Amino acid sequence: MIARTWLALVLAGCAAPLGDGTSLSLGIPARGLLHKGVAVPERSEGLYQPPAWRARGHYYGTEELVGAIVRAARRVRERHPDAVLYLGDLSPKGGGSSRLHRSHQNGRDADLIFYARTPQGALAAPPETMPRYRDDGTLRPPAKKSKEPQPSARRFDPALTWALVEALLTDPEAEVQWLFISSGLRAQVLEAARRAGADAALVEEAEVVLSQPGDSLPHDDHLHLRIYCPGADRLLGCADFGPVRWLKKHLKGLDLPRPPPEPVAQLIADTAPTPIF
Ligand SMILES: [Zn+2]
Repeated sequence: MIARTWLALVLAGCAAPLGDGTSLSLGIPARGLLHKGVAVPERSEGLYQPPAWRARGHYYGTEELVGAIVRAARRVRERHPDAVLYLGDLSPKGGGSSRLHRSHQNGRDADLIFYARTPQGALAAPPETMPRYRDDGTLRPPAKKSKEPQPSARRFDPALTWALVEALLTDPEAEVQWLFISSGLRAQVLEAARRAGADAALVEEAEVVLSQPGDSLPHDDHLHLRIYCPGADRLLGCADFGPVRWLKKHLKGLDLPRPPPEPVAQLIADTAPTPIF
């Protein structure tokens, strides 16, 4: 309620465009709103939101978040031509609370389903529910009596996941606060980074950002991306929750005015669609 009142005040007081004129993330991830959120495309190059999640309608984010996801999926696919990132929920239109998530309220959270491969080495098909993995990357069997549709045979792919982490951490617009992941899978991703000869400073950053939060279920079924407040939004009521690190990209609102991020619509127009599954 407070957030909505604040939004009304901000809107009433500003004849000029808000902030940088793009989306506005208000409040914190567990209590906030999203103004002028951008819909993530159902598919773009190396990206696909399966129907089980698309139908839920939680596919809005800030310009920066959606842009970062589209850019990162495209970059992973440039290096790994069969890679497709399957996307879970972002935020509902307009943000706010929902029955589905505690956070995801202001367009700065996204659930990224882990890349996985079949026993034959092909990219695993889009799932209907999020597959869960043990620490060694093998598929965790379903709970007894589970009526949920079960994913086909697959194994967590640390190399593709590292490529995604690398792309997100080096995104030109979004600044990553957290990539929540279970401890066992985290170790595998960092090992893949070293095997790939990744930049040492980037691996050091990944060691901090990749984290299993103490207050939630183990993130063994998705990589939870949370970005910091865009600098322009911070001045209008966007608040970060938790540690603030690496203020290196845009100095968090101290470098205004700066050009707004590359519009997602343009980004998508420049991108080849992912083949239909
Ligand atoms: Zn999540």
